[in-house]
Amino acid sequence: MELLFLGTGAGNGVPVFYCDCPVCVEAHASAQFRRTRCSVLIAGANNYLIDAPPEISSQLLREKIKRIDGLFLTHSHHDHVSGLGDLEIYAKFHLKGRIPAFMSRDTMEQLEQSHGSMAEWLDITIIEPEQPLCLSGFSITGLRVSHSPGTFGFLMANKSFKVAYIPDTGPLPDQTKAILKEIDRLILDATFYGENWYPNQHHTVQQAIDVGCELNVKKLYLTHLSMHYSEQVTNQRLEREIAKYDGRVNLAYDGLRMTLSGI
Ligand SMILES: [Zn+2]
Ligand SMILES: [Zn+2]
Repeated sequence: MELLFLGTGAGNGVPVFYCDCPVCVEAHASAQFRRTRCSVLIAGANNYLIDAPPEISSQLLREKIKRIDGLFLTHSHHDHVSGLGDLEIYAKFHLKGRIPAFMSRDTMEQLEQSHGSMAEWLDITIIEPEQPLCLSGFSITGLRVSHSPGTFGFLMANKSFKVAYIPDTGPLPDQTKAILKEIDRLILDATFYGENWYPNQHHTVQQAIDVGCELNVKKLYLTHLSMHYSEQVTNQRLEREIAKYDGRVNLAYDGLRMTLSGI
């Protein structure tokens, strides 16, 4: 099993169409520094997608993924659900059936307001926080975070690994911190660099690193990276800054594949 990072950018993506800053110049020059909006695929006997960002179709094409067996949603913000229309076409035209989908009740209700009923093509199961759902070979659990109402992070676990994916969160609730202590991999929101414009809903790079250190996780991966806002930071500068953590702090990037079995 592996976790495939389809996208690792915050709401704006990198490069941004309206910007010529050093971060965007770096991304224009080298494809490895481009960040599409956040999504990961749990790839194993089945393919489970977490979130459907606006680039979902091009992300799946890029990685040659032809099958989605289930969909998990962290929350209903634009950068995580704007690609649902592409999955609707997949369900109706190719599967000719419904995609199993898992989300909080808040997320479902918010989506019903923006998208109308999706019952025709999504087979929705409401999940409660901290209630593990058993899938083939591993379990997945919704984790409480601080973001919009009903937002989840997800913990994937079995006997050989414990990995948490939390792309959007501010300060983590205590019950979630208790679950994340000393886990193998924590993939965490690091939206801002320097100043935090939304301190209750997102982390800065440094705040994310502090959380990883506090929880003593084996490896921290920063995702939902903007590289923009008050201060622009290039990937090359960030890589130099995190080098002092000797590999315990890493930048996620589009196309990264993280082996899950036997970490
Ligand atoms: Zn820029
Ligand atoms: Zn987001």
